[in-house]
Amino acid sequence: MKTVFAKSVPGRTGVLPPKADKTARDMLPQNLLRARRPALPELSELDVVRHYSRLSRLNYGVDANFYPLGSCTMKYNPKFIEAAVNYRGFTDTHPLLAQVDGGEALTQGNLEAIWLTEQLLQEVTGMRAFTMQPMAGAQGELTGILLIAAYHRAKGNKKSKIICPDAAHGTNPATAALAGYEVVNIVSKDGMVDPEALAAVLDDSVAGLMMTCPNTLGLFEQHLPEIVRLLRSVDALLYYDGANFNACMGRLRVGDVGFDVVHLNLHKTMGTPHGGGGPGSGPVGVSERLIPFLPGPRVVKKADGRFGLNHDLPQSIGRVAPFYGNFGVYLKALAYILRCGAEGLSRATDYAVLNANYLLARLRGHLDIPYDRICMHEFVASASKLGEYDVHALDLAKALLDKGYHAPTIYFPLIVKECLMFEPTETESKEMLDAFCDDLIAICERARTDPAGVKAAPVTLPVRRLDETAAARNMILTEVE
Ligand SMILES: *Cc1c(COP(=O)(O)O)cnc(C)c1O
Repeated sequence: MKTVFAKSVPGRTGVLPPKADKTARDMLPQNLLRARRPALPELSELDVVRHYSRLSRLNYGVDANFYPLGSCTMKYNPKFIEAAVNYRGFTDTHPLLAQVDGGEALTQGNLEAIWLTEQLLQEVTGMRAFTMQPMAGAQGELTGILLIAAYHRAKGNKKSKIICPDAAHGTNPATAALAGYEVVNIVSKDGMVDPEALAAVLDDSVAGLMMTCPNTLGLFEQHLPEIVRLLRSVDALLYYDGANFNACMGRLRVGDVGFDVVHLNLHKTMGTPHGGGGPGSGPVGVSERLIPFLPGPRVVKKADGRFGLNHDLPQSIGRVAPFYGNFGVYLKALAYILRCGAEGLSRATDYAVLNANYLLARLRGHLDIPYDRICMHEFVASASKLGEYDVHALDLAKALLDKGYHAPTIYFPLIVKECLMFEPTETESKEMLDAFCDDLIAICERARTDPAGVKAAPVTLPVRRLDETAAARNMILTEVE
């Protein structure tokens, strides 16, 4: 297949701009003019439409097929959201407008949208304030840990450690290390944080604890009150990784439980697709005592009901993103929350949990379930039973590709051997879940009778098994003829 550059024909065009009296050449200073024409392909409109349509078909997405990728929430995002955020008042506002003389009056709607999103997220999480700046979950984590550090610094606390349970998401210890803390790992017991193991590592040098909840086993933490009490006893703060808040919406307010910081992944839970390196939004909510340290400027509602920006934040950790973060992404969350309402958000959570438990119930008996109890929005299974046929989690994942599915997450979390992590999400129907289970169960049966057949997968895709290390480290990009 030719690339758009190979298809380019000099002089061919897809648009006919109106004739202008003056060109950029007449108007721009000489030193700003290009010396050479830009190397853009010259194509007709149809060439361009075919190019993008073809690329979209090469891609795999939730709009086309089921995508049970654990810990990623690849759910369907309703199309009305796109319409809601594409109003010109949102898309065409210059991000600096609010900061120029008289600009505030012209951006009241956008400032209100930011303010309202913060209010609604506070309502959903029980936190006292939010910053919308962080542009990914991991960046929200770093922001949250910097807030905790600022709190301890302001109090004169000497703190050097952050505790991360072994069932935490991998970004948690990475964040704590990046923020300059020593990471203290604690081993879980029965899939839960073990309060005894926690008490054993607690002392005055502990700045906080980062908890992924539900954890990477898809289990809800059972000892939260005890954990909060222990941490409080040494003036350590509690961080809640709420990236998977579609397991909690309307059912748990982490602020009420006693957490000091939470980040949400709006690009998983609320209206924006996750993955592909696209734009994200990882807003951070805080308890009362962390409000002074939030990034600025902060959007405020003034006494006269108008909205403005407050730059006067002497204890702020400073900006963590340009402008206001990814405005378009959290605007989608605003549209999603307003459309769902309180009842809709709780129902989304209930269906996410119900669907995961349905999948778990159907797969029990075909795969090992190392923590076999009610799960939240996802669960972990293990292919270890199939080891005697030399069939592994990787082989099952590859065989699923041949059936048209995206593979589940495999070999994560690290604490379960041969694991596969399934997250069906709230948007899949029972029919889809049944079809997937039927196919996966058939693959497990084939593993026993024809292991070589399973290990040969995938056979229907453009490529078979790749040397995955080389594919990542040594990538060769060429045109496919
Ligand atoms: C996805 C995820 C993250 C990281 O979010 P990014 O936006 O990819 O940086 C952190 N924690 C958990 C539990 C997650 O599922």
